[in-house]
Amino acid sequence: MNPVMISTIDALLPQTQCGKCGHAGCLPYAEEIATGGPINRCPPGGSATIAALATLLERPVVPLDPAHGVEQERRVAFIREAECIGCTKCIQACPVDAILGAAKRMHTVLSAECTGCDLCLAPCPVDCIDMLPLDQVPAALPASTDPALLSQKWRVRYHARKLRLRSQRDERQLRREALARQQEASASTTNAVRQWEPPSVTLIDPARARLDIAAAVARAAARKAALKD
Ligand code: SF4
Ligand code: SF4
Ligand code: SF4
Repeated sequence: MNPVMISTIDALLPQTQCGKCGHAGCLPYAEEIATGGPINRCPPGGSATIAALATLLERPVVPLDPAHGVEQERRVAFIREAECIGCTKCIQACPVDAILGAAKRMHTVLSAECTGCDLCLAPCPVDCIDMLPLDQVPAALPASTDPALLSQKWRVRYHARKLRLRSQRDERQLRREALARQQEASASTTNAVRQWEPPSVTLIDPARARLDIAAAVARAAARKAALKD
């Protein structure tokens, strides 16, 4: 596969990372297109993306494949905060880190960063997330409406999130390995202590000792007497 071509195709995709094309993100779909796959499976990109891909790849323009969804105006997620139980499942599902919150705390969506991918809807156990057109989101911050700028921003946010998750995973793995080494070292110290045996002590028999001493004294006296002779 030609990496430059894949990257060029990827840059034409909307980068919502919604998975509606049947891939786990825009880049794998770009890889499929680069190897001759259909160009009409991206509902968020719709007819504009199909036209851009057709021009790049010199292929005919085809209608969006309805099996993958329909084209619609951009919507963003809005959490009905009073109903949120703070389970964090939506944060884990959001591919561009567009949700703020903490365990057992109310969560909120940064509407300017939300790609409208819908991926946070299904995991929410209390169904408190709505998808709304941007102009109907209460207190929404101003956001760009330029599709090219949005897709660039979302691509950066998506890859930044992947890097963050990878580095957190690596850190957890290093901590697990350090803990295992520590436990191994402490187990071998415990074994060494368990296996240690005190040196054997020979008890002295007092009667035998007295006899040995008397014999030694007799031998000394005999040597002295022999010297005098
Ligand atoms: S935005 Fe389009 S290419 Fe990207 S994951 Fe969604 S459907 Fe696939
Ligand atoms: S907040 Fe929901 S809809 Fe918006 S980008 Fe995140 S997962 Fe997708
Ligand atoms: S998944 Fe639903 S309940 Fe859980 S934190 Fe997100 S919005 Fe709140």
